[in-house]
Amino acid sequence: MPVPDLYIRNATLATDEQTFVGGIVIAGERIAEVVTGNPERPATQSIDATGLLLLPGLVDAHVHFSEPGRGHWEGFETGSQAAAAGGITSFVEMPLNAHPPTTDAASLALKQAAAAVSHVDYALWGGLVDDNLMHLAELQRGGVVGYKAFMVTATDFARSDRRILKAGMEQIARFGSFLAVHAEDEAMTIELTAALRASGRRDRLAWGEGRPIEAELAAIDEAIALAEATGARLHIVHVSCAAGIDRISAAKARGVKVTAETCPHYLFFDVDDLVRLGPVAKCAPPLRSPDERDMLWDRVLAGEIDVIASDHSPCLWEEKTAGDDDIYAAWGGISGLQSTLPVLLTEGVRRRGLKLSELVRMTATGPARLFGFDDRKGRLLAGADADLVLVDPEAEFTLEARDLFYRNPHSAYVGAHFVGSVQRTISRGLTVYREGRMIGPSGHGRRLDGAGLRDAASSEERLFRV
Ligand SMILES: [Zn+2]
Repeated sequence: MPVPDLYIRNATLATDEQTFVGGIVIAGERIAEVVTGNPERPATQSIDATGLLLLPGLVDAHVHFSEPGRGHWEGFETGSQAAAAGGITSFVEMPLNAHPPTTDAASLALKQAAAAVSHVDYALWGGLVDDNLMHLAELQRGGVVGYKAFMVTATDFARSDRRILKAGMEQIARFGSFLAVHAEDEAMTIELTAALRASGRRDRLAWGEGRPIEAELAAIDEAIALAEATGARLHIVHVSCAAGIDRISAAKARGVKVTAETCPHYLFFDVDDLVRLGPVAKCAPPLRSPDERDMLWDRVLAGEIDVIASDHSPCLWEEKTAGDDDIYAAWGGISGLQSTLPVLLTEGVRRRGLKLSELVRMTATGPARLFGFDDRKGRLLAGADADLVLVDPEAEFTLEARDLFYRNPHSAYVGAHFVGSVQRTISRGLTVYREGRMIGPSGHGRRLDGAGLRDAASSEERLFRV
């Protein structure tokens, strides 16, 4: 047997179940052994990781890299570099913000071609819109790992009404896949926003007043009712409020196959930050009150969240400053994937006692399980891909724009102070990022395809063991 390539030793390891002192032996692209304690192991190279955390590389379930068509907003080259810098070794890219959106085989082929430059591994979402029910099977054959629909109007991505959602859920369930929804109520947000605009409101608070928690809850209720009626799997993305999580938890308790996602920005910022920072902190659903943010943390700490994802949604700086005096004129979306881990380490682990194993569950193992590739990703397990992140938990830094690998280096997190910094990111055995520098080559990333039309229910069984 050949000598393994690398032994990272004497780190604090965290899996989704436990934290312990140990090491990882890497042979080729895989984890050869998960070691407990600090014994000797033969290896070509070894890294003494005393004092560092060693986690499975994060799986970001929700990013918008805007290619094809809007590579000037982000692109797979810069987006995947930022992922690596943030300790993310797999990301799942959304079907919208690109042009064309990913709603049929032809647009999926364009997306797959654009993604080939990625520095880390990735998978792709397919889109459900108002006129593509006949194209879902070709998306499934093409390898998408899930489907995304909007219950509210979005740029370039037609909203799905109740009829489309139901028909889409039924079809997607037959594939053994699942539907993710952006849950805000169309009628309520349109009516409230129109009234605010008619009264001359353009200020930052007006953004959130047009998209209240009630609008989010109404849409969550509707989506859950449809999942319950069809028996389909449902994932609610970027839940911004505790009551939304409570609806999902209650549905889970009565057997509905639904999972909950929230984002670091709902845990780090509140509406006062939108007022202070301006359009760079505009997103939908909007940032909520400080009390709401704390209540959402309670749900995180209670273990009620399945996935924390960045919802990285970049744009040109001018598309943010356009809203300086008219919040409605700004692009809505926060650039954040490089900051997920620092946010959760600082605000979660350090400030609120979030367990490291829970951080790993929500950012790595949980999302990998959602998409059905948890045999290879999001785990510290012999045989799994050697996707790892080494973190210095004591390193303090203030995020500066020049630290960002985004094509447009702006973010609501610029100026924020963090404790806990990514030191090294390893993708399938290769160090791709180290101490501020990208090392791995463009194109190193490989696509993770879904089960296609063959393997219907196996991923569902893993997710919802009964
Ligand atoms: Zn999104």
